[in-house]
Amino acid sequence: MPNLSEARALYDLPLNTLIFKAQQAHQAQQDPAGIQLCTLKSIKTGACPEDCAYCPQSVHHNTFVEAEALMETETILADARRAKAGGATRFCMGAAWRRVADGKQFDSVLNTVSGVKELGLEVCCTLGMVSEAQAKRLKEAGCDVYNHNLDTSREHYSKIITTRTYDDRLQTLSNVRKAGLEVCSGGIIGMGETVDDRLKMLVELANLDPQPDSVPINALVAVEGTPLAGRRFVDSIEFVRTVAVARILMPKAMVRLSAGRANMSDETQALCYLAGANSIFLGEKLLTTGNPDIEEDMNLMKRLGLHPLHPDEARRVHRGEIEPSAAQPAPWPKVEELVAAQKEGGSCSEGGCGCSA
Ligand code: SF4
Repeated sequence: MPNLSEARALYDLPLNTLIFKAQQAHQAQQDPAGIQLCTLKSIKTGACPEDCAYCPQSVHHNTFVEAEALMETETILADARRAKAGGATRFCMGAAWRRVADGKQFDSVLNTVSGVKELGLEVCCTLGMVSEAQAKRLKEAGCDVYNHNLDTSREHYSKIITTRTYDDRLQTLSNVRKAGLEVCSGGIIGMGETVDDRLKMLVELANLDPQPDSVPINALVAVEGTPLAGRRFVDSIEFVRTVAVARILMPKAMVRLSAGRANMSDETQALCYLAGANSIFLGEKLLTTGNPDIEEDMNLMKRLGLHPLHPDEARRVHRGEIEPSAAQPAPWPKVEELVAAQKEGGSCSEGGCGCSA
């Protein structure tokens, strides 16, 4: 069971030693050069009753986000088809809800989930709090993964969100796991928390049993009109150190670079990959905030000798069926298709949001 002092000892190592340890953990458990490529779609945007201080979708903040109703299944499926044709292997859908409510809208989401699954894509949803029964319905519909971020440490949480508790978050993660869904949970760096707050969040995640399958690490993009507007972007070396500790504490997880990548240099992103990050969201827009354009991402990956991770191969590695270095890559994505898939709708939150990351 990792604890704060162990995490802090790792974090404070000389950077080259920390990255060496992160690479050792990474190469023992993951395709060493594989990067999971995900696409993210906001299927219901804005007017969220929660008051997350980082989020432009909250009804409590006056931001540029205009509320949009839940998208029709057929519209979402058209985008999912384009994403698939473009080479995406996982399709993530986010709705800015406090919690899932049974009824027509949830039925529509379930229908959409089934449709996306039938296309042969991995399906991830992020819809706010869910009960175990609702999580089971998602699983039965074909959902593979549920995203629900812890956001920050328990101690810092009430400075960021007052409309729900840390234990609410943990309860949803437990419901999701009991329903047999994979868990995707991470947080946001740069919201005024201390280094220990960041590490406490990672320790909390690492002590979940089993550990999350995916851990998104977001860098706050301070959006005008939110209470966190004007905050300085997180120091890149601190961010890299946080990624490295996440990799060491959770060696089997996909550690995902999410919000904030558009503000990072190629060199910072390269350091994140060295520190063990192996998943990114592709696209020009990450919900409501910017994301590097797809060609830039592909170009950087090629310059670094990285390749798209094949989800089936990654599973074989995790089951111990093949050596990590024997994993075969997925094909390179087709940029035009992926860009087209993201043109419709899809402007939502922050990339750090637990319901619509
Ligand atoms: S982060 Fe999610 S729960 Fe929080 S206000 Fe934004 S959409 Fe709502």
